[in-house]
Amino acid sequence: KLFEECGFSTALMGAITKQGYEKPTTIQCQALPIVLSGRDVIGIAKTGSGKTAAFVLPMIVHIMDQPELDKGEGPVGVICAPTRELAHQIYLEAKKFAKPYGIRVGAVYGGVSKLDQFKELKAGCEVVVATPGRLIDLLKMKALTMLRATYLVLDEADRMFDLGFEPQMRSIVGQIRPDRQTLLFSATMPYKVERLAREILSDPVRVTV
Ligand code: AMP
Repeated sequence: KLFEECGFSTALMGAITKQGYEKPTTIQCQALPIVLSGRDVIGIAKTGSGKTAAFVLPMIVHIMDQPELDKGEGPVGVICAPTRELAHQIYLEAKKFAKPYGIRVGAVYGGVSKLDQFKELKAGCEVVVATPGRLIDLLKMKALTMLRATYLVLDEADRMFDLGFEPQMRSIVGQIRPDRQTLLFSATMPYKVERLAREILSDPVRVTV
């Protein structure tokens, strides 16, 4: 299977080729068509599987499909990750594919000036990559609104539980409209992650690598 079969635009194909990605990884082969169809997905995959591109590439397509993208406010795509290291990696990957489209990606995590992040969000971002605690802080500060967020990714959900982020995850999900597309990625699926998935995803397709 090839990236071309996903129906990506020439610009996105160019960005994929520029990354040196010749063919999709296993998780990408399985997840890309389902995510592109708009379904919710539970992806059971580890770092190194290429899971980031499996949710970032369809997110770019999702955002470009929004009518009047230039008129609204707040992110369309929201990605939550357990640590700033992972959030930063996702941020870098998202930026590569977002750049050709002028999609702005904001990074929201601890260890970086909150005021700078506040300003970045106020200036406008179509995508926010965040750790849960810092995102909640900035939501409380009204640095951003979730009113038009329709694509939510919880990455490494099991680690977010291990780090005690369940209340923050629930708070964030509760601020995003229910007709969103939701993707949950996790290396393992213990009962608590399974339960959260059942509560916040609609009729999800399960993909395991
Ligand atoms: P991830 O599991 O998302 O952290 O990705 C692991 C590594 O694989 C990252 O360095 C990606 O840039 C790289 N990668 C992702 N997809 C592909 C692909 N289709 N072909 C080659 N490398 C890839």
